[in-house]
Amino acid sequence: MARYTGPVCKLCRREGTKLYLKGEKCFTDKCPVTRRPVPPGQHGLGRRKLSEYGVQMREKQKARRTYGVMEGQFARYFDKAARKKQGVTGEVLLQTLERRLDNVVYRLGLAASRPEARQLVRHNHFQVNGRRVNIPSFSVKPGDVIEVRESSRQKPRFKQMAEVTSRLVPAWLEVNSEALRGTVLRMPNRDEIDAPVQEQLIVEWYSR
Ligand code: SF4
Repeated sequence: MARYTGPVCKLCRREGTKLYLKGEKCFTDKCPVTRRPVPPGQHGLGRRKLSEYGVQMREKQKARRTYGVMEGQFARYFDKAARKKQGVTGEVLLQTLERRLDNVVYRLGLAASRPEARQLVRHNHFQVNGRRVNIPSFSVKPGDVIEVRESSRQKPRFKQMAEVTSRLVPAWLEVNSEALRGTVLRMPNRDEIDAPVQEQLIVEWYSR
């Protein structure tokens, strides 16, 4: 299960926007995008204007990096979305990404960032409908109940979380912070997905 292990703030600077990959730090003045909003590298400031191809590729990279998905898996998600007979391809793609278990854990406020949510899932701290699931890409569906496992509830990490989960949870999810449990009420609508991407550009990039 491959994943990016390099410096994540560099990814935000490359995309020129906050991808919120570091939890608390992203909301402080220490965020490098706030302090130094230029692309990384020696020639970061001197880069030329992007071509149409470049703009589309950057949009795809931004979506990929926001959700922490590698190139091959992202392409498979796109293929699946494009083959769906119902729905707009770009929106179906974002819905698929949004329904990943690691993203849902993050959106429920049970982790400070998507990378942290991914790690917590990998470390067996969550169950879905009463069964342990440690696959970050697991796709949740309406009616699924996601909760912190009994054996993990006493860990300081989650005890503290129960007290401070104040994140705005999207309407397609329902959270019970005290019980460290969330329910998927329905599929997410496009306006409930706050990823800073224009999905149409991603569709154009894959349709070249
Ligand atoms: Fe780093 Fe977070 Fe700022 Fe991105 S948003 S540059 S991950 S601190």
